[in-house]
Amino acid sequence: MSELTAARRIVVKVGSSLLVGPDGAPDGAWLSALAADLGRLRDRGQQVLVVSSGAVALGRKRLSLGKRALTLPEKQAAAAAGQSALMRAWELALEPFGLPVAQILLTRDDTEVRKRWLNARATTETLMTLGVIPIVNENDTVVTEEIRYGDNDRLAARVAQMIGADVLVLLSDIDGLYSADPRSNPDAVHIPRLTHLTADIEAMAGGANQGAGVGTGGMATKILAARIAQQAGCATIITLGSRPAPLAAVEAGELATLIEPALSAKAAYKAWIAGSLSPNGGLVIDLGAVNALTTGKSLLSAGVRSVTGRFEKGDAVWVRDEAGREIARGLVRYDDSDAARICGLQSTAIEQVLGFSEGPMIHADDLALLFEPLVKPA
Ligand code: GLU
Repeated sequence: MSELTAARRIVVKVGSSLLVGPDGAPDGAWLSALAADLGRLRDRGQQVLVVSSGAVALGRKRLSLGKRALTLPEKQAAAAAGQSALMRAWELALEPFGLPVAQILLTRDDTEVRKRWLNARATTETLMTLGVIPIVNENDTVVTEEIRYGDNDRLAARVAQMIGADVLVLLSDIDGLYSADPRSNPDAVHIPRLTHLTADIEAMAGGANQGAGVGTGGMATKILAARIAQQAGCATIITLGSRPAPLAAVEAGELATLIEPALSAKAAYKAWIAGSLSPNGGLVIDLGAVNALTTGKSLLSAGVRSVTGRFEKGDAVWVRDEAGREIARGLVRYDDSDAARICGLQSTAIEQVLGFSEGPMIHADDLALLFEPLVKPA
């Protein structure tokens, strides 16, 4: 599947039923085959992040809770005890392939409240740049009902959105979406590719395919996750996780369902900046800076004439030319008082004045041009 081989960033979601054996212990052989698979992606220059369940399942064994239904405090205790076992299993599997791991535990606010989102994103980006595979799970031990993602399919989609992933792979107990449940209906047809997630598809996932997914999520949660990813410009691949090296299997042409993105990840991110955030302030920039922005460059402090309103580092701000026309919106790297202190200054002077530097006022990646300005670059 070319989407998988061409992707720059890939999120792989692994459910408890794949990772934890019937004895309640991690399935080392399966993990090790998956590690080889991930190592191959890394060697090809692709960045990988894993969203892994399994904390509660492994914690059950550690705390001798058996298979009975757990109360919420027991579940949270099991997650606390199991999370370290989960990380140990990943470490043991990935280390032989030279893949260091890092644990990231998130609650829903971390991908929904912008400041926390920026923080989580920056840490994740740094880890991936350093060649580390972040292993993400929900912070089950502290979450309450109101701040839960609820299932790791949804968490994986939010994380894919956060890091601008190209592909989200949901490893499942079935090799994709079918027109009916293939275990009970011999006429069920496998669906290799979907462009639109229609109400029919959702009904199918909720009905015929409902049994799929032994973990928290069935096929319906996978379709929901695919919808989040789709709007974020990320393709979703649903495939059978239980084969050894499931990603290599997909590349070799084994069955999977691919749900296409609605737009590119970059376009989705820029649309989010331009449309979904309401700025509390902004920057007025000179003509040179206007020209620079239209050619795709970052906004440097040197081109900023004045600062208006109150904003924090990471907030969305408007960017206007001196005639008051709004040129762009972007996520600013300095709060309003620091921005005012460095406006008009060369980048090299920022550290001297503030004692630190975050680079440009707004990085080109975080800038959405609102329209083609009248002034064209020479
Ligand atoms: N976060 C849970 C765990 O680690 C699993 C949630 C899910 O599988 O959807 O056990």
